[in-house]
Amino acid sequence: MKIGDCVVAWSKDEELRKMGASGGLVTSLLVGALETELVDEVIALRKISEFEGVPIRTSDTDEAIRSAGSLHAAPINLTKFAVRFFEEHPDGAIALPVKPCDCRGIIEQAKRRKIDMDRIYLIGLNCGGTMDPITTMEMLEKMYEMDPKKIVEEEILKGKLIFKTEEEEKAISIDEVEEAGYGRRESCRYCGINIPMMADLACGNWGAGEDETFVEILTEKGLRLMKSAVDHGLIETAPAPEKGIKIREKTNSVMENVAKTWYEKVFVPIEDRSERMKYYMDAMEDCIDCEACKYVCPVCSCDESKCIGFYDPMDSHKISIYHLIRLLHLADSCIGCGQCTDVCPAEIPLTILHKRVADRIQAKYDYIPGIDMKTPPFFEVE
Ligand code: SF4
Ligand code: SF4
Ligand code: SF4
Repeated sequence: MKIGDCVVAWSKDEELRKMGASGGLVTSLLVGALETELVDEVIALRKISEFEGVPIRTSDTDEAIRSAGSLHAAPINLTKFAVRFFEEHPDGAIALPVKPCDCRGIIEQAKRRKIDMDRIYLIGLNCGGTMDPITTMEMLEKMYEMDPKKIVEEEILKGKLIFKTEEEEKAISIDEVEEAGYGRRESCRYCGINIPMMADLACGNWGAGEDETFVEILTEKGLRLMKSAVDHGLIETAPAPEKGIKIREKTNSVMENVAKTWYEKVFVPIEDRSERMKYYMDAMEDCIDCEACKYVCPVCSCDESKCIGFYDPMDSHKISIYHLIRLLHLADSCIGCGQCTDVCPAEIPLTILHKRVADRIQAKYDYIPGIDMKTPPFFEVE
């Protein structure tokens, strides 16, 4: 194996192959990283149900194994858990599975010296989108006529959203569920980065056979992860077949086109200047100043937050200083991950508001946050 290789791989442990998605490779890599002492801890999502996962940091391989499996309806971003690790262990090393938006958050935090890229192993996961748990349960009852409590597995495959209980399996096309207002989170519909080429490995089921994972080895660290798992007898690999490589490319290009169509639909320009101001004022009117959008944002990194420090709830500005500062401060770093919209109790479409500002700035400065270590246009490190 070498950097640039595409392989298919799977866990040698039969139990893990059953528990984990796509042959249990990712869990085996996490276990391998711990057993070979490449890292001190791993981050994983412990499954509570198909609709709830709790991020854990652990050095216990059994705990890592218990977190095997994918959770499309638990859209958590792991960036800040990695930041916390480096706050506690500046010289430590950690491995974690990352969707493209986790990976982009981590890279932006690394630029702000909150994460050491030499000591973080990023097992990238292809991502076609994640779903809000509450609306997914509603969708199951209304569209699938299935009891959410009975769901044991879910999967996104060939443009379909598939749910399984012990007794049955039902699949509906993503287009159909999204037409009805369900399906992937809004930010995922227009997210155009689906293969995490900025990670150490890019893993996924696109182009892979049953019970195996397609892996592209992207960096020296990625190669180290794969080799240590092979040498430790945890995984098996084979060269990726040409057909699989083509299927993966095609799937990615279909996803990119879908994202582009959604983007054009959602981000209709507001040409009139006075309408533009009104749009922001109306959208933010119901804000209750809870600050949840700040705490959950994976690219927020100030130690003393200016958006909170400069804000006074008694201000009478047309748009609160809190939001104005955030809109400006995140203009070069917003990755459109959707976390702020997910947590807002006032249901303010924050991701759209941020992206409307950020996309123009990022396009102007030819800067895409989180895809490489390029310096942001308004760079400032405290
Ligand atoms: S924002 Fe993109 S990377 Fe993140 S969960 Fe959605 S589709 Fe996946
Ligand atoms: S502002 Fe919202 S969409 Fe942008 S990076 Fe932060 S949480 Fe994600
Ligand atoms: S999460 Fe929503 S309500 Fe809370 S501060 Fe942010 S915009 Fe306001």
